[in-house]
This record gives sequence, structure tokens and C-alpha cells, in this order.
Amino acid sequence: MLSCIDCGDELPAERAGLGYRYCTKADRQALRHRGPAVTVLGVNESADAVTVGDSEETRRRGEAGEFGRKDSGLGLDYRPPAPAPSEPAATGRREPVAVPRRPWSDQQEAIVRLHHDMGLSPRRIAERARVNVPRLGITERLAVQIMSVVPRR
Ligand SMILES: [Zn+2]
Repeated sequence: MLSCIDCGDELPAERAGLGYRYCTKADRQALRHRGPAVTVLGVNESADAVTVGDSEETRRRGEAGEFGRKDSGLGLDYRPPAPAPSEPAATGRREPVAVPRRPWSDQQEAIVRLHHDMGLSPRRIAERARVNVPRLGITERLAVQIMSVVPRR
């Protein structure tokens, strides 16, 4: 049984098997997190929008109305990056999209690129996504597809 390199608690075998050497405590995650911040924004009734970048910057843009939460005066609905509760099915009313859609969601792409930037292989990305964000349905094949195209940003 491996122990967390930070707090010494026992690591669950499943987590150790995924290559983690620290436990799931939120503060440990934040301490070890080296990638860009991923912010999940609830946008109307469409799928979650995910932005990758500085969270302060994202917050300012959100407060300036850039993400257009038009059906609510409540402002941004902030949630931790993952896991998020399931969204109700889209009703068909979608915001116009400037960039041609790819056969995967922005959220799937953000997660794959985040893990790719951390040096994980498509197989490892799929394994971690299955544990951490199972509702996104990220497969090894999808990870390969996403990593094979040029990032939009
Ligand atoms: Zn720990």
C-alpha cells in the first residue's frame, strides 16, 4: 500500500494505479495542480462551457457579461471543475457558434488537452477521464482524435 507523499494517508489502490502519489484531498489537488485552471460555466440550457485560462481573468470576463447568461440575473454559476452534476438535456435552443463544431465537445477537448499537457498518453487520459469525469465519455480513440488536430486557442 502506497502512502500520500504529502499527508502520509494511505492511497487507494485504484488511485495509486493511475499514477497518483498524493491523495484526493482538495488542498492537495490544488497544491499539485500545475496545468491551467479549467473553469466550467453553466450557460443557459446548452452543454457546459469550459474555459481554460486564468481563473481571475475568467471571473472578470464572466462578470462583464461576456459569457452571456441571458436567462438569469444571478450571474455566473461557479462550480468546481469536476465532477459536475448532470445537466438536463438540451432543448435545441443553442447559442450561435463562431467556430465550426468538431465531433467532440469543448469540455472533452479541454480535459484531453489538459491531461495531454501533463504528459499523459491517450490511454492514460481515457483511464483518468473515466474515473474523474465519466459523464464526458472520453475514450482513448477520442483522445487520439483531439490530440491530432491543432488547438483552437
Ligand atoms: Zn494526502
